[in-house]
Amino acid sequence: MITSCYFCKGKVVDQVTSVDFWWGDDLKIIENVPSGICQQCGEKYFSPDVYKEMERLAKGRGPAVSHLSVDVLRYSPV
Ligand SMILES: [Zn+2]
Repeated sequence: MITSCYFCKGKVVDQVTSVDFWWGDDLKIIENVPSGICQQCGEKYFSPDVYKEMERLAKGRGPAVSHLSVDVLRYSPV
């Protein structure tokens, strides 16, 4: 597992997190994912096995544990 951040060299700590995972046009939020999180910039790192399992969950049509509605905003230059 990675211990220092690829981007900022910050310390990466093992933590369980929620992941927003895009699969095509579908956004899935996956809770309870074991990951490494950079304490400096917040970058998340996943092991290949964890990533594979997230893909499997995102592709699957399994029942969701909860449902969110999300606001979509459009950036406009000032
Ligand atoms: Zn970092």
